[in-house]
Amino acid sequence: MRTANLNGRLVLVFEDGVVDVEKASDGLFPSEPQAIFDCWPEFRTWATSAASADHKRIPLDQRQLRAPVPRPRQVFAVALNYSDHVAESAFDIPSQPSVFTKYPTSLAGPYDAIELPSVVVDWEVELVAVVGTRAHKVAAADAWQFVAGLTTGQDLSERRIQLEGPAPQFSLGKSFPGFSPTGPVLVTPDEFPDPDDLGLGCAVDGETMQESRTSRMIFSVPEQVAWISAICPLLPGDLIFTGTPAGVGGARDPRRFLAPGEELRSWVEGIGELRNPLIGSQR
Ligand code: ZN
Repeated sequence: MRTANLNGRLVLVFEDGVVDVEKASDGLFPSEPQAIFDCWPEFRTWATSAASADHKRIPLDQRQLRAPVPRPRQVFAVALNYSDHVAESAFDIPSQPSVFTKYPTSLAGPYDAIELPSVVVDWEVELVAVVGTRAHKVAAADAWQFVAGLTTGQDLSERRIQLEGPAPQFSLGKSFPGFSPTGPVLVTPDEFPDPDDLGLGCAVDGETMQESRTSRMIFSVPEQVAWISAICPLLPGDLIFTGTPAGVGGARDPRRFLAPGEELRSWVEGIGELRNPLIGSQR
């Protein structure tokens, strides 16, 4: 199943168009894309029958797509989770996941323009896992069943704010408005031949900067769910940014960062791509 946020309304996405969930279900399910996570298991059951039913298909206007999960209560992110990125960042391979938060006000849609607050804003393409049912102290072996789906994300990072101070704290430097674009759709794990092995990458103005596979993660999606949920209960509709592979700008020689006028394109195999134009600071 593929769902999306079409201009604020939850839709099912099919090859030949989209179906408005509230209308097709006669109001049984809400139109609001975040509210569906209050009844995700029931919605999945209904959507299975909706796929074969004769609901009205609307042509999909890609440019009207917004963040598929627009108002999560918690947004977790995992740093240093691909060994080639750990190496380029000059850290040792972590023995446990390194977790921080991206505040929800940083969320953006798949085609939104992103304002650059400084000249040291970097890219980090990431697979984003969306929680489907409350998960507290779950085992990795059971973790996929708590995941509603996967989407494409960018963990944009202002490297000065991220790394300055007596001890680096990542959260603020990764939470400027627009620094967490996601989309274009949410795809349930069963849609993938292997949800633990997806190609992902990003390009700046057509030049590929990152390209890897999620099977190269140090801590897999289920291991991340297990680790975080051992402490924080994961709530329906929460996001987990699962780490970025090598190729970030700050680790290049010479260093390279995003500039106004460029376009950042980010993709995950089987999900789709984000295309975010970058603009200068208005201040
Ligand atoms: Zn990241």
